[in-house]
Amino acid sequence: MKDKQTILYDYIFLGAGCAGLSLLMRLMDDPGFPAKKVLLVDSDPKNLNDRTWCFWEKEDGYFEDIVYQSWKNLFFKDKKQNLRLNIKDYRYKMIRGIDFYSYCLNRIKKHPNIEWLQQKAEKTDYVKNMLTIHFHDHSLTVQASCVFSSIPHTGQKTKKDYSLIQHFKGWIIETEDPSFHPEDAVLMDFSVDQHEAPAAFIYQLPLSSTKALIEYTVFSEKVFEQEVYDLELKKYFSATLPTRNYYIEHVEYGTIPMTNQKYHHYRDGIYYLGTAGGQTKPSTGYTFQFIQKQSAAIANALQIGNMHPAILKKSARFGYYDSILLGVLSKKEMQGAEIFKRLFTKVPAWLIFRFLDNETRLSEEITILNSMPPAVFMPAALRELVGKLFFR
Ligand SMILES: Cc1cc2nc3c(=O)[nH]c(=O)nc-3n(C[C@H](O)[C@H](O)[C@H](O)COP(=O)(O)OP(=O)(O)OC[C@H]3O[C@@H](n4cnc5c(N)ncnc54)[C@H](O)[C@@H]3O)c2cc1C
Repeated sequence: MKDKQTILYDYIFLGAGCAGLSLLMRLMDDPGFPAKKVLLVDSDPKNLNDRTWCFWEKEDGYFEDIVYQSWKNLFFKDKKQNLRLNIKDYRYKMIRGIDFYSYCLNRIKKHPNIEWLQQKAEKTDYVKNMLTIHFHDHSLTVQASCVFSSIPHTGQKTKKDYSLIQHFKGWIIETEDPSFHPEDAVLMDFSVDQHEAPAAFIYQLPLSSTKALIEYTVFSEKVFEQEVYDLELKKYFSATLPTRNYYIEHVEYGTIPMTNQKYHHYRDGIYYLGTAGGQTKPSTGYTFQFIQKQSAAIANALQIGNMHPAILKKSARFGYYDSILLGVLSKKEMQGAEIFKRLFTKVPAWLIFRFLDNETRLSEEITILNSMPPAVFMPAALRELVGKLFFR
C-alpha cells in the first residue's frame, strides 16, 4: 500500500528516545509551540525501564524533577586502594528510563499538535525537500521545516577508526541486611577479572542501605556471553557483600559504541541527534549530558530562527583527545585499570569531569595529559595527529 498524500509538518522526529524527547521537551517550552505541527515516529511504545542514565552535574538540570537518586561521595577502587574522589560541588545523578519516558509522554499527551506514529521506519528518502519514510507495508511522504533522526545506524567506519564496545550487565539487588552506604557510589572498581579486555570494572550505585545497582562493565571489541557477566557479578558479591542472601529485582544489559568514526550531524535534509549524531563520548560512552547540551543549543537556535547544521558539530580538539585514549586502549598499549588509576590519583576528579565534558582550557588539558606516561602517550598523540591531518 502506498500513501501518496504529502503532509506538512514543522518538526519531524525519527526516534523518540533520549535525544528526540530531550529536544522535543525544550521545543514545547516555547509559547509558540502549540501552533507547530509535529510528527514523532518510534517503533517502541517507550513504556519499559530499559536503561538508567547517570551523569555528573553541578547545578539542577533540565530533568531535575525526575532525578531518582544522587550521590555526593564517589570512589575509585582497585585491588590496592579505595580512593574518595574530590568532585567539589558536582553530584553524580541517576535518571531511570521509565521515569524519563513517562514524564515526556505525559507532556506530549497534552499537545494535540503532536502526532505519535508507533512504527518501525525501514528507510528514508529525501528528494526536493520531500521526505519519504518507508515502513513495512506503506510509505509516508512529508515535508517539514526540520527533520531530526536519532535512529541508530552504523555510521561511516573506516579501517583507521577505533571501534570498541562498552558492554555491561547490571543487577539491582536487594539484600536482607544493610550492605551499602547509600551516600557512597563507586564509579569504577578495577579489582575484578579483566578477561584480557582493555578495561573491565564494577560500577556500584547504592539506592538504599539494602539496595544497589551493580554493573560489570567492559570495554572490548566484542561482547561476552551472558554467563560471563553473571559469573563476575556473583564473584563480586561474594567478595564484597556481608550477606549471601540477595534478591535480583531488575536486570540491565546494554552496549554503547566507543568509536572515533565520523557520524554525520546533517545529511540529505536530516539533522542527526544523540548517539546517531555522534553525541556519545568515544572514550567513555557517556552521552546523556551531551544530548542535553545539544538539545538546548538546537531549541535556542530554532527559537531565534537561526538553525543551521554547524550547531550540531563536535569539538575537533576533544575528538583528538578521545582518539588518543581510544587508540591506547584499543591497541592495549596500556591497561584501562592503570590509565584510570593514574588519572584519578594525579588529577582531581572535578577537573576530570570538566575535561570529559569537553569544557576544560588548553592549560588544564596539558596538566591532565601530563598525568599519563609520556612513553605511551606521546607516540599515541603523534600517531593520532598524523592520522587526523593526513588520513581522516
Ligand atoms: C542500557 C544503557 C544504559 C546507558 N546508560 C548511560 C548512562 O548512564 N549515562 C550516559 O551518559 N549514557 C548512557 N547510555 C548511552 C546513551 O545515553 C543512551 O543510549 C541514550 O539513550 C542515547 O540516546 P539516543 O536518543 O541517541 O538513542 P535512544 O535513546 O536509543 O533512542 C533511539 C530511539 O529510536 C527508536 N528506533 C530505533 N530504530 C527505529 C526504527 N527503525 N524506526 C523507528 N524508531 C526506531 C528506538 O525505539 C529509540 O526510542 C546508556 C545506553 C544504554 C543502552
